Amino acid sequence: MNVVMIGTGYVGLVSGACFADFGADVMCVDIDPGKIERLRRGEIPIYEPGLDELVARNAGAGRLSFTTDLAAAVREADLVFIAVGTPSRHGDGHADLSYVYAAARQVAEHLTGYTAIVDKSTVPVGTARQVGRIVREVNPQADFDVASNPEFLREGAAIGDFMRPDRVVLGVESPRAEALLRELYRPLNLIETPIVVTGLETAELIKYAANAFLATKISFINEMAQLCEHVGGDVHDVARGIGLDGRIGRKFLHPGPGYGGSCFPKDTLALIRMAQEAGTPSRIVEAVVEVNAAQKARMVLKIRQALGGSEAGKTIAVLGLTFKPNTDDMREAPALAILPPLLDRGAHIRAHDPKGMPEARSLLPSAIDYCDDPYSTLDGADALVLLTEWNEYRGLDLDQVRARMTGRVVVDLRNVYDPAHMTARGFEYHCIGRVDQA
Ligand code: NAD
Repeated sequence: MNVVMIGTGYVGLVSGACFADFGADVMCVDIDPGKIERLRRGEIPIYEPGLDELVARNAGAGRLSFTTDLAAAVREADLVFIAVGTPSRHGDGHADLSYVYAAARQVAEHLTGYTAIVDKSTVPVGTARQVGRIVREVNPQADFDVASNPEFLREGAAIGDFMRPDRVVLGVESPRAEALLRELYRPLNLIETPIVVTGLETAELIKYAANAFLATKISFINEMAQLCEHVGGDVHDVARGIGLDGRIGRKFLHPGPGYGGSCFPKDTLALIRMAQEAGTPSRIVEAVVEVNAAQKARMVLKIRQALGGSEAGKTIAVLGLTFKPNTDDMREAPALAILPPLLDRGAHIRAHDPKGMPEARSLLPSAIDYCDDPYSTLDGADALVLLTEWNEYRGLDLDQVRARMTGRVVVDLRNVYDPAHMTARGFEYHCIGRVDQA
């Protein structure tokens, strides 16, 4: 089976490599010649655990290749996946579909023989149908179907998620496209992966509903954490106490500095926009977005209070910049909302992240000092702020931490450390939703 993957970002590259690993012949296409050049040399442009080995193995076996020549790739294809970005459109929160539609136009020009065109990007309801209209307009003779196959992988665990998904969603309107997609995903039969087959619109909505629901769980537990801080409770016990109820579930109930990343922020906004346009506003998701913004602002206040009410002239050591561990992705990371206000009020920030620093340099104010390792970041710091729970920050040598820092304030925005233990070790420890021991 010949598969073309348009877009070699976090989703396209992982999906392409995994389909190749399933045995398909996959051609990955990108408009960025630099990216394709690096991939051809065996370099992986993003950080995703295990991806370098997977790409090398399948490229070596001749099942995975990279090109900027969309025309040649599409001519041979049985299935063409569109996995380009769908960022928030400036101003109104609507998903920017210009990359998807541009890809559809380019594909249309080069179709020969029957081809299934599959949206893998996260796209609002109606997009697959619009892709179909565009293809027909550009190439009235084309023999094709459109389908929707939203992707649920998580950055940092993307290969495992793709290889062992909770489910595969196929939005299809023709038995032929369905048969091709089922054949492509057939290796997942062995692990009895449920395949949810729906119409196009439903498949598109499933992706947004899933992300909005997960974002809701996060905002909900962050609100409960705030309540715990005011009435005296432990949010971890609350999360466990409710999460053990099978109707609620234990996952996604960890408090933190607010969700970020390339999906939840833009997808919640796009769903709000979609619902408004449909005349059925989603008040729950609107509240989720507001609570999340407030949570990030609350983290700034928490740091300020921990520093005695003012960050002016203070040195803050920040560990972790990416929106979560095991990725280099800085898109909408809480660091982007939390650090600039501290800098504005005169804080001096020293920062470290295992993979995110190159991207952080281009997105955060230049006043930040980037450090080579976690411990040197702490030199002379009045406070340590733990912003992303990378493994290497979970078991810091506390003697070294104390010796390197000037102050004793630790603000743990991921609740990695034990409050009583940190207090016993002489830190003024602050966290989220567990009554401060300081
Ligand atoms: P990305 O920005 O990392 O990658 C997109 C790639 O598409 C870029 O390399 C870009 O150069 C390329 N591109 C754009 N237009 C093109 C064209 N016309 N032809 C060829 N290449 C083109 O994006 P991503 O994070 O991989 O996300 C892609 C889609 O998948 C989005 O809709 C996103 O919402 C969705 N998604 C992302 C994740 C995630 O964790 N990142 C998870 C599930 C779904």
